[in-house]
Amino acid sequence: MKLVRSISEMNALCRAARSGGELLGLVPTMGALHEGHLSLVRTARKKSDVVAATIFVNPTQFGPNEDFAKYPRALESDRALLEREGVELVFAPSVEEMYPQGAVTWVVVEGLSERLCGKSRPGHFRGVTTVVAKLFHIVGPDLAFFGQKDAAQVAIIQRMVRDLGMPVTIEVCPIVRQTDGLAISSRNAYLSAQERKSALVLHRSLTRVQKLFESGERDSASLISATKHEVAAEPTVRLDYVEIVDPETLEPETAVTKSTLVAMAAFVGQTRLIDNIVLEP
Ligand code: AMP
Repeated sequence: MKLVRSISEMNALCRAARSGGELLGLVPTMGALHEGHLSLVRTARKKSDVVAATIFVNPTQFGPNEDFAKYPRALESDRALLEREGVELVFAPSVEEMYPQGAVTWVVVEGLSERLCGKSRPGHFRGVTTVVAKLFHIVGPDLAFFGQKDAAQVAIIQRMVRDLGMPVTIEVCPIVRQTDGLAISSRNAYLSAQERKSALVLHRSLTRVQKLFESGERDSASLISATKHEVAAEPTVRLDYVEIVDPETLEPETAVTKSTLVAMAAFVGQTRLIDNIVLEP
């Protein structure tokens, strides 16, 4: 496994890796790797001849009052984990390498980027699409692997790839959860023992929605109100949003008549967590 710091070297190695027609798979991450990331890596390993992972805490997707500075960084242990999974190339550039001084070029998926997390985190998805587009240019992957955990991110990247005709196939991998249901996230490390318990309310409320749906409820307002009730009963948790939307356009749906995304975000203490489920009539 090779750890690469510069764009030019990564680009040269990726070109060489594909020169015999090999399929190159890319797993973009912000590091502090956990089982969620590793499930993407394992799927990439199965579906590609060569696997490249990237570790980059992307400053442009964090708001001014968000956790960029304290976001967990663990390059040495990440490197060991990726080596064990048989990854060939790890790209871990510096901020200066990815954003040359005076960089003013952005990739923006209009409309979709203002929905769901984009509403409460202005500029977040612009940062995501810009960095992912850059990584696609540098690596030139045939396949790129993303987690359903970030369902809006998936929709926005798929739209970017379609709109810009990028020659890459997006593969979406299921949410990996802890045994009690909490979706695994690098930010779970911020939770105190008490908050860790309270955080279960996200999964619990989505499970409630799933059950109501299975018993015949199709009205989005009723499903949303059930979630709000569940969260309100957890005093240390503040709901940011819960929405029922089309998984591709992220437009609100008033009723669940086709495959529909239920997405939520909530603050558990100071930590903002997200989760979602897809309802399939
Ligand atoms: P991050 O490092 O948080 O930017 O995540 C990198 C990738 O891992 C994204 O595509 C995430 O959706 C995915 N990911 C993070 N947590 C999980 C999880 N619990 N299950 C599945 N994928 C995940």
